[in-house]
Amino acid sequence: MSVSPLKVLPFDQILGQERALTILSRALEGGRVSHAYLFVGPEGVGRETVALSFFWYLVCEKKQACGECRPCLKFLKGLHPDFHILEPSGKSIKIEQIRNLEAKLQLHPVESKYRLILLPAAETLTREAANALLKSLEEPPPQTIFVLIAQTPESLLPTIVSRCQLLRFRPLPPSLIEKLLTSRFDKLPEEAKGLALLCEGSIGRALRLSEKGLLEELHRFTVAVSKAEPAQIVTMAETLAGLKDDLALLVELILLWLRQALLSYLGLGDYPKMLPLRPPKDFIIPACGEIEKTFQVLEGNLNLELFFLKLLNTLARLWQETEQAEVSPGGTRAA
Ligand SMILES: [Zn+2]
Repeated sequence: MSVSPLKVLPFDQILGQERALTILSRALEGGRVSHAYLFVGPEGVGRETVALSFFWYLVCEKKQACGECRPCLKFLKGLHPDFHILEPSGKSIKIEQIRNLEAKLQLHPVESKYRLILLPAAETLTREAANALLKSLEEPPPQTIFVLIAQTPESLLPTIVSRCQLLRFRPLPPSLIEKLLTSRFDKLPEEAKGLALLCEGSIGRALRLSEKGLLEELHRFTVAVSKAEPAQIVTMAETLAGLKDDLALLVELILLWLRQALLSYLGLGDYPKMLPLRPPKDFIIPACGEIEKTFQVLEGNLNLELFFLKLLNTLARLWQETEQAEVSPGGTRAA
């Protein structure tokens, strides 16, 4: 059971996952709620938001997420005794956690008609835990509703998938992300526009990029590479090597930025002002190849700082060469 207030929205305020919401609304209205659902889709597109909202309707005495009845109030505070979240303990959901849950499921619901179980990262179930959970899914205890969340169905045992009703969640369109960022998260229009193009349809990712200051790091990265100043390159290599958990996210951001630059050269996308200096066109594809090497390095034990120093110097040289090649004989830069 969670003890912090839940961030829950009623269905009509959740944007962009109409298909899943329609299916769940119909199930609620018709009283034909499945005992287990599997929500699949990328991170940060609303899977957990929809799951919590669905549970909110199920606990409410009036079945309408009124926010005023006793069960609603308890649920919104994260204190509802029939609601359980099973999160990974360390890196995985372990068999002991499933055993614990099974013990709770032996008892009657305390407060509402249903017991509600949410697994926000079902792909982290260990094999033993998944097999134990499978028993509950095959012979569900009465009045128990599971929602499992995963990126893809393939990340779970097929036997688990077959016991759940599958709902797919799709990436959100950039225009919707832009709207959400300005209206709900107080981002400035120009920042929202840039984040929307670089978050691959995930509002969660857009917020992480913004909160962790990774767009600023992208700007610094671009300055270091385009100016080819040794001191800036050294500082940037140190910064990158020290990023730890956010490093992969920043590297993905750099690749998305390059992709957006390429799309803009091809006339297939915008290049908003808030993005860093646009790289020369011929820089983009070879640079992507160099930057992608980072993912292999992250798996191994190489000295990251040295690796980035070399990478940044290679990219700086490439930038200069491609920039010079773009300058026409008359001395003006080509489009
Ligand atoms: Zn209520």
